[in-house]
Amino acid sequence: MAWFRRESGDVEATGEKRVRTEGLWVKCEGCRQVIWKKDLDANFNVCPKCERHFRIDARQRIELLLDEGSYQLEDLNLSSSDPLKFVDVRAYSERLKKTQAETGLKDAIINAEGKLADRPVMLSAMEYSFIGGSMGAVVGEVITRAIERSVAQKKPLIIVSASGGARMMEGVVSLMQMVKITAALARLDEVKVPYISVLTDPTTGGVTASYAMLGDLNIAEPGALIGFAGPRVIEQTIRQKLPEGFQRSEFLLEHGMLDAIVHRKEMKTYIARALDFMMPSNGAKN
Ligand SMILES: [Zn+2]
Repeated sequence: MAWFRRESGDVEATGEKRVRTEGLWVKCEGCRQVIWKKDLDANFNVCPKCERHFRIDARQRIELLLDEGSYQLEDLNLSSSDPLKFVDVRAYSERLKKTQAETGLKDAIINAEGKLADRPVMLSAMEYSFIGGSMGAVVGEVITRAIERSVAQKKPLIIVSASGGARMMEGVVSLMQMVKITAALARLDEVKVPYISVLTDPTTGGVTASYAMLGDLNIAEPGALIGFAGPRVIEQTIRQKLPEGFQRSEFLLEHGMLDAIVHRKEMKTYIARALDFMMPSNGAKN
């Protein structure tokens, strides 16, 4: 039996939007200018005119941070068992199959083990295009495995978040991942191995409320949406208008919720320097 029923109308994306953005030109949402797609690609998918950071996928993120040819991808075969047999406008199992076919991934995360500017690291990168980068049992397990390897091999951990939060279709099972990952991070803390959290656009909900904010260093890309509940829900609860730029990286940095905002171009160098500071014995000898 379906939990919710929609009276009429089909909300499926028609694919029309996708066709437009896959052309040679892209319109920047930041400055409204039209940019040549190749210029955007050559500039780390950052608008050359206004520095707006476009979303990139997990594979691009790994390529950006790890040294070419130095890494291997791990835990790619874990897939959700649909524990609640969840159905809304359509079955979660079907949604999973479709998204898996579109993204070539089993779930919203990729683990990679390799080197960042010659320093051995564990990296988990979230994939926003997989059901909004939502955190279900698979994301929880994959991140936990990365943490456990970090603990065993004393390799620093980097998690790049891009997520709408917990995966609704896995209900309480997805909420349990917050605890599971947090407990694993506590073990990482005990063995004194650093964890750097990179928050990208968007990082919200249960992901913000757990591992994304638990880094020894919490850094974000410029202009990223970061928050727990959405602005409208907060406004209705506190009955106040929220300030301009609320829940963007810059606002959070100003209010002490982040340690730094780092431009995508500088991210690798910044993390390498931070690791040298936090774990000098792990660093590359330059
Ligand atoms: Zn722009």
